[in-house]
Amino acid sequence: MTTSLPEKATKPSPGLIDYDATLDCVHCGLCLPHCPTYQETGRETSSPRGRIYLMRGVAEGRLGLHEQVTEEMYFCLACRACESACPAGVRYGHLVETMRAEIDVRGARPRVTRLLGRLILRRVIGSPRMLRATSGALRFYQRRGLQHLVRKSGLLGLLPSLARAERMLPPLPDPFRPPRVVPAEAPRRGRVAFFSGCLMPELFEPVNAATLTVLVKNGFEVAIPRNQRCCGALHLHSGDRRGAERLRRKNRRRFPLDSFDAIVVNSAGCGAALKEYPGEIARKVHDVSEWLHEAGLRPPEVAVNLRVAYDDPCHLLHGQRVADAPRALLRAIPGLELFDLPGTEDCCGGAGIYSLTHAEMSTKLLARKIAAIRATGAAAVATGNPSCLLQIGYGVREAGLDVEVVHPVELLARAYGGDLAI
Ligand code: SF4
Ligand code: SF4
Repeated sequence: MTTSLPEKATKPSPGLIDYDATLDCVHCGLCLPHCPTYQETGRETSSPRGRIYLMRGVAEGRLGLHEQVTEEMYFCLACRACESACPAGVRYGHLVETMRAEIDVRGARPRVTRLLGRLILRRVIGSPRMLRATSGALRFYQRRGLQHLVRKSGLLGLLPSLARAERMLPPLPDPFRPPRVVPAEAPRRGRVAFFSGCLMPELFEPVNAATLTVLVKNGFEVAIPRNQRCCGALHLHSGDRRGAERLRRKNRRRFPLDSFDAIVVNSAGCGAALKEYPGEIARKVHDVSEWLHEAGLRPPEVAVNLRVAYDDPCHLLHGQRVADAPRALLRAIPGLELFDLPGTEDCCGGAGIYSLTHAEMSTKLLARKIAAIRATGAAAVATGNPSCLLQIGYGVREAGLDVEVVHPVELLARAYGGDLAI
């Protein structure tokens, strides 16, 4: 394989790059057809194999961390579709995280990008208080007529990224503020802790409420530990290892493992990150669909007469290898007609903040999903990750489609007769 990138000796040590893991790649190329950035560009350097080659070049000191190399690492969606396709077991998600951490410590990204990213990730996403204040301000903006005025003024046109973020934001529900414990509503089968996420309580109250409903209807007492923090996935994906580690330490203190049978999470991205925490905590983490499927679902009785397309979140399918459980839960709902959205295993282009940092590629990938939704005539799309819910929801609104975009637990809660009054 060749690359047109200039090669020069710089630092001869791999630094934070997991050099040994790069050697697992045998260059077979079986991952290439599964990689969205390769599919769209046809460039070897925008493929998993090409990126691993670049990582190895940097680790061996043959290649400098110049702009083209760093941009390829962030052009990657970290969707991990290449991992599912790889016969050699290459841990690509881990590799790209180590590479981005190396880029970060060497200061190889533009200073302003790095500092702005730090500010948002550490001071807003990492701080429940700041998140609450920000979402409160956004609710005020949406509900008190400011949104209408700002959109009419055309001011947002001056800042395309901000304009896109503003359009992506769905109408915000009231925030999710549950009690510390919700008792089981069926013969008790155990006690679980709910990892409620950082953005989910602010943007997706109905999903968190539905998660509690389906758990207690299945006989689980649910504890919601106070002061839990962001899982750190966004920090790791951006190369901020120290920020992620700080959040991990805080979360470990909030979830005393002896007190729960499991830590249940409803966000695929958070679940994938939590399952990679060092130590015991990772073993206790279950996606809500996985937990209910393994425990044995109490059959729901209320019909939900909808044609539902299921779309796999990358971090559930490729990151956690959970594919059957959400489908089994949805199939258990009376009246619901389930089918896979064509291209279900492909990334929707949401990928955390990718839709804002790489709007062009993100839009291309979203267009594929919207075309598939339109072609199937689905009444609803079910997917279990906040970034996918935001991205597909945005695409559906922009396309003017009358399609619900929901988390599988929301449909399940309906089939149990609706959400609890919590
Ligand atoms: S993580 Fe996704 S975008 Fe990145 S190299 Fe793998 S398949 Fe391609
Ligand atoms: S499938 Fe695996 S071993 Fe083959 S090129 Fe891709 S990453 Fe390397």
